[in-house]
Amino acid sequence: MKVFVIIPAAGLGTRMAPPSATAPTKQFKELGGVPILVHTLRAFAATPSVHETIVALRKDEIASFRAQLESQYPEILKKPLHMVEGGEHRQNSVANALETLAADPGDIVLVHDAVRPFVTPEIIRNVIQAAEKHRAAIAGWPAVDTVKQVERTADGAIIKATIPRASIVMAQTPQGFRFDILKRAFDQASADGFLGTDEASLIERSGVPVSVVMGSPKNIKITTPADMELAEFYLRSGEETPNHR
Ligand code: C5P
Repeated sequence: MKVFVIIPAAGLGTRMAPPSATAPTKQFKELGGVPILVHTLRAFAATPSVHETIVALRKDEIASFRAQLESQYPEILKKPLHMVEGGEHRQNSVANALETLAADPGDIVLVHDAVRPFVTPEIIRNVIQAAEKHRAAIAGWPAVDTVKQVERTADGAIIKATIPRASIVMAQTPQGFRFDILKRAFDQASADGFLGTDEASLIERSGVPVSVVMGSPKNIKITTPADMELAEFYLRSGEETPNHR
């Protein structure tokens, strides 16, 4: 059994800042002088069972990122690392990477957001183990806020229901699946025109139960400028992220 990792990193990050010709997209913004994507890749490079990583990037960023890894972060290239062109949506970027995998049905594929640099080798290991056991598993964290279902109107959001917090888990990544199950779910979603915001949602609709293991409240997805401030604080406090120093 081999473990493959897919890192979708082809987003424009429009919630961080409007796209511009000069500003780097959020996965390339620097935390402690190192691009967020490099922090993320280091966490997987530090996981011995990972066999190969595929990063989905915007076409015009592929050559420059490979050159940057070769010159500044060659340790990340010790294991096979391929780059593919991303797509319009996250799901298309992951699908493009999945197309290139030479995996066996029972191999495990982890998908992890480029912009979650505080994932730990322990979380990665736990998701791999649960995916081996249950065929599909994700990292998640229990909701701390009370969750409301709303209807969006011209006058703003109106609450329709309160969803019992005990039944809510905030989905994180990594999300790990047997290759055959993930491939089938992607083919099915593509045939049905279904677009999900994570891989688990594709697996759920294919009827396979997805197990949840503990992620971490620090395993944040850097999305807005406020997340960047928090990330800088986590990096400075650094005690749980030895691979990020
Ligand atoms: O924007 P979102 O929260 O969906 O981004 C999650 C991850 O998916 C990010 O790492 C982003 O770079 C990636 N993504 C992608 N291709 C897209 C959109 C997002 O690889 N078209």
